[in-house]
Amino acid sequence: MPNYISRRKFLAAASTVAVSSLSNTNRNSALATTTGQPKSSPIAERIVDMHVHFDETSPSFVSDLLKVCGSLNLTACVLTPFSSRKIVAEAAKENPGQIVPFGYVDLDANDVVQQVDEFHALGYRGLGELEFVKKPFNDPSYFPVYELANRYAWIVLFHTGIVLRKKFDEPEDVASGRMRPIHLEEIARRFPKITVLGAHCGNPEYEWAAEIARWNPNVFFDLSGSSLTKMRERLADFRKIFWWSGSDWKTDTPNSDPSAYSKIVFGSDVKLSEIESVVRQYHAMFDACEVSPQTRKMIMGGTLARMLRLPG
Ligand SMILES: [Zn+2]
Repeated sequence: MPNYISRRKFLAAASTVAVSSLSNTNRNSALATTTGQPKSSPIAERIVDMHVHFDETSPSFVSDLLKVCGSLNLTACVLTPFSSRKIVAEAAKENPGQIVPFGYVDLDANDVVQQVDEFHALGYRGLGELEFVKKPFNDPSYFPVYELANRYAWIVLFHTGIVLRKKFDEPEDVASGRMRPIHLEEIARRFPKITVLGAHCGNPEYEWAAEIARWNPNVFFDLSGSSLTKMRERLADFRKIFWWSGSDWKTDTPNSDPSAYSKIVFGSDVKLSEIESVVRQYHAMFDACEVSPQTRKMIMGGTLARMLRLPG
C-alpha cells in the first residue's frame, strides 16, 4: 500500500511514547530477556496478532517475522497486498503455526471479486485490512465481495475510525466517515458467516464499536493504533465502554465468557520490532480494567486460534 511507510513511522512514534509512559513495574514485569526469550507469563502465553501488515519494502520480512514469532510465541495474520500473494501463501504453507495469510484488496478495484477468488484459491483465510474506500463500507456495490467472504466463512478485518492523511498538498478522496464502526453492523447482520473484525475499535467512536460487538456474536475489535497511547493515563475508562461484564447478556461469546472484553482481540499494526510494546499496552489496559486471566488469554490469542483452527 502506498501509505505503508508513513503509517509505520507514525505508529512507531506513537508506540515509543506509549512505552515511555509505562511504569517501571509494568515494564520490568513484561520485558524480554537479552536472549530474546520471554521472561514472564504475559508474553510467554500464545499470542495471535490480527494486524500485521506485510512490508513489501523489506526483502527479509518473512524471516524477520519468524524471529519475532519465535521470541514472542506469536502467530501473525499477515495482511498481504495482491502483488505479494504468492510469497506469503508459500511462507504460510511452510510455517502454518506462525503465519496466517490474509488478502488485502481495494474494494473499489474493478477486478476485486477476481482478486478475492485468487486469494481463496491460494489458501488465504480472510481479507484485510479493508480501508481507504470510496463509499461507506455498507455500500451495496461492495456486497459481491462480502458474499464471497460469507461463503468462505472468512474473517474480514475493516479499518474503523480516524485514518491518516497521506498527502498534505494534493487532493485526496479519503474520508474517515466512510469507515465508521456503525457500518459494520449491517455487514455482520447481512452476512452472518463473516467474522467482522474492526481495527482500532472505531477510534474515537469506541461506544458505537462496543455496542455493535455486544449485540452481534460475529463482531470483534482490535485495539491497535493510537487508542491505548491516547488513553494511557485513563485506561480504566474502557470499563465505561465495555460496561456489560458479568451481566447476564444473551449473545454468544468465545468460551461463553461473560466478560465484555471477550469482544476484543489482539492486533498490533506496528513494525515488527514494536509488537512487544503493544503487548505491554494491552496488558496495562487489562490491569487497569481488572480483566480476568482467562479472558486475557482469549483476547491475546485464544479466540483467534479457535476461529482460525490454528495448529497446537
Ligand atoms: Zn487501520
